[in-house]
Amino acid sequence: MPRARHREIPPTAGLPLRWRDLLPGPGDLAGRIARQLGTPALQLECSGTAALTVALHTLRRAEPHRTTVVVPAYTCPLVAIAVHRLGLQLRLCDLRAGHYDMDPDCLREACREDTLAVVPTHLAGRVANVGAALDAAHRVGAHVIEDAAQALGARDRGESVGLRGDLGFFSLAAGKGLSIYEGGLLLARDASLRERLRRDSAACVPRRFDWELRRSLELLGLAALYRPAGLGLAYGRPLRRALRRGDPVGAVGDAFAPTIPLHRVGRWRRAVGAHAAVRLPAFLAALAEQAGRRIQRLRRIERLHVYDDPPQAQGTWPFLLLRLPDQRSRDAALERLWTSGLGVSRLFIHALPDYAYLADRVPQAPMPNARDFAARTLTVSNSPWLGDEDFETICRTLERVLG
Ligand SMILES: *Cc1c(COP(=O)(O)O)cnc(C)c1O
Repeated sequence: MPRARHREIPPTAGLPLRWRDLLPGPGDLAGRIARQLGTPALQLECSGTAALTVALHTLRRAEPHRTTVVVPAYTCPLVAIAVHRLGLQLRLCDLRAGHYDMDPDCLREACREDTLAVVPTHLAGRVANVGAALDAAHRVGAHVIEDAAQALGARDRGESVGLRGDLGFFSLAAGKGLSIYEGGLLLARDASLRERLRRDSAACVPRRFDWELRRSLELLGLAALYRPAGLGLAYGRPLRRALRRGDPVGAVGDAFAPTIPLHRVGRWRRAVGAHAAVRLPAFLAALAEQAGRRIQRLRRIERLHVYDDPPQAQGTWPFLLLRLPDQRSRDAALERLWTSGLGVSRLFIHALPDYAYLADRVPQAPMPNARDFAARTLTVSNSPWLGDEDFETICRTLERVLG
């Protein structure tokens, strides 16, 4: 019998809002985050995807003969949708076997004279191999855009992610750490590129009262329901309904609309984010501490792989990313845990070529390592609301499945 669910743990550790965050105030969200991360000025856009869209638009204006964007074959479908919306071609790069990084040989092969940008992705807050992307991209004159949508606060060689590449972006979407329901921060190392990004955004991105009203109401809903007692309604119920009808893509929210809203973020939402951001560094430090302890426990489970960072990096920990020996054991673990209310879930359901709804926009080529990654991984929330006892329940379940 499923136990009564008074509590639902979110699948990722978002920073909970407080009522006082909702009071009006100065809206310097981007400035505050830039100071915390030690980056040059960050540019606020209405989503991570919008930030990527502005980045690609600006790069292409300077080099219109470059028409292709190289992305990992396992990433957020929104990345593929953004590339397609701009009229650019997508070129997929398979992953290294068993890893979230792009395979270096595929990467070199994928980067050609027509390549505008390469998008290494800091998946699950883990720090990606940006060096390999820089080597492959710069050899052909292409740019590197670090997808740090899931990695706000992650550091690589002592600096924020997003600074080794030419550009980078963070997401402020619901469930991705600090959230204003939808938002994105765009980062560029070079001052003249930053100025071009700023000008292009000012020229192309309109104020939209309708979108801003909608996002403001959604942010109020998030503030009200993002707690263990409210998430059953906002997250657990739709999840269970989607799984009952055999729709895992719907269950994790991977089915995205074909258009990407582009509009300015209003002052009130900026103020909410700026208020909450004061608590972000301590929150991220607590998550890292909890993840460190829990990884030690998970490592005692045989045949289970826990993803960590390369030695020079300190990622962020919205959730723990685990790889099981095969799809059968992964599915068996999810059978027991996905609807348990304990914050166990999957990252993206498919490799990009395997989403039926993207078939008209994604090149159809076999991507065996990306497909294998999708088939064998699952995620365990690193929310502070997941207590040690519940975490131990998850570990015991994994032990039984793998035993
Ligand atoms: C969420 C996400 C995006 C898109 O960010 P939004 O803010 O949701 O538009 C891009 N890449 C990855 C890896 C993501 O997880």
